[in-house]
Amino acid sequence: MQLFRRPSIYALPSYSLTGDLLGFLRCGLQYRYTRIGNLPSTRPVQLWFGQFIHGVLEESFRRFDTARKAGTIDLPPWTDARIAEICDLLKARLAAQGIYPYDATLEDLGDKRAKRAINELGPELFPLIRRAEVRLTGARALPTSKIPKQYQFREADRYEMVGVIDVISSVELQNPLVQNNRFVKAILAGLPSTPPNAFEVIVDYKGMRRPPVKAAGQTSLWEIYGWQVQTYGELRRRQDDSLQVTAGLIIYLNELFHTRTDFDLLRKEIKDNTTDIKPAPGSKAEQLILGWSKGQDPPELPFEFRLERALRVEPIDKASVDKALVQFDEVVAKIETCRGKELGNGKILSTWDKNSSDDSTCAACDSRTFCPEFKKETSPRLPAIAQK
Ligand code: SF4
Repeated sequence: MQLFRRPSIYALPSYSLTGDLLGFLRCGLQYRYTRIGNLPSTRPVQLWFGQFIHGVLEESFRRFDTARKAGTIDLPPWTDARIAEICDLLKARLAAQGIYPYDATLEDLGDKRAKRAINELGPELFPLIRRAEVRLTGARALPTSKIPKQYQFREADRYEMVGVIDVISSVELQNPLVQNNRFVKAILAGLPSTPPNAFEVIVDYKGMRRPPVKAAGQTSLWEIYGWQVQTYGELRRRQDDSLQVTAGLIIYLNELFHTRTDFDLLRKEIKDNTTDIKPAPGSKAEQLILGWSKGQDPPELPFEFRLERALRVEPIDKASVDKALVQFDEVVAKIETCRGKELGNGKILSTWDKNSSDDSTCAACDSRTFCPEFKKETSPRLPAIAQK
């Protein structure tokens, strides 16, 4: 009898859109320590806020849906006490996982944004929701042609793409109930042509402000979030129960409640012409933005303008999906290359790509004290004579 050697283990590397791709594009070195190395952050500001606001919206929809299935329409706006009870429940759930708000200011801001999100978005968004928290998975060929030979280290020739869609909404245009729905109007206005009567839209909540469409540095958050919904669209299309996926709707939740920093950035982006949504000349929103001075609390902008800034519609079609998948492959190839380099030379600092272009990413990073890129950006330098 001939005995064979056991084949080596075929492990499929798994890459998620948010945890891996976005993490690496924000900064490779930070991604290496926090995601691959599992080092917990000492200032998990975004972790708490992101999970809190997503959880609040999911729990609120669950309550609306339970009432709807029992024959009652229980749409927001809801009372402060009811929303506070939902917020407390979410805080307790996160605390059980060891995730706490960094300080009382962040917690208060989270409560205010949660209230706005439920009461301002819920009445028109919840009735459109078909499913929440939809898990997606798919496989693609590992982009070995983009990874230098000396850094290729895997047996696998494919990789797994994973993601979770916050919400899938289904729209039936002939349904009279959606005729005046602001979300449906925004989606239709953002599509290049009339969609079929029944279609799906992938909704992705972002616990952040609307990023500028033109950004300095290597990472354009605008583009990255665009690829993300395109890729979700493709993975969703492969599921049996999907309708035609025509668009992604990204909701930038921080636009519902502005802080001073948000207001300052908004004014700057309007002045530099780097944002796509500006107030109309002479509008109330424009007067409030121009009339605000830095020491003051920001005024409340009209809801229509805040909603316009919060909603971004990304039409999904074959060409846009193909483009996004190529970008996905490119990032996977970069991560694989960094991993291969580290395996080869045993060094971390010099092998992983660094990106110090986003101040907020570096501000919350625990590697600042030894990160060469951060030091290069922030260390004082002596005047010198340029080398010829
Ligand atoms: S300090 Fe900035 S550049 Fe350095 S690892 Fe952290 S996020 Fe990256």
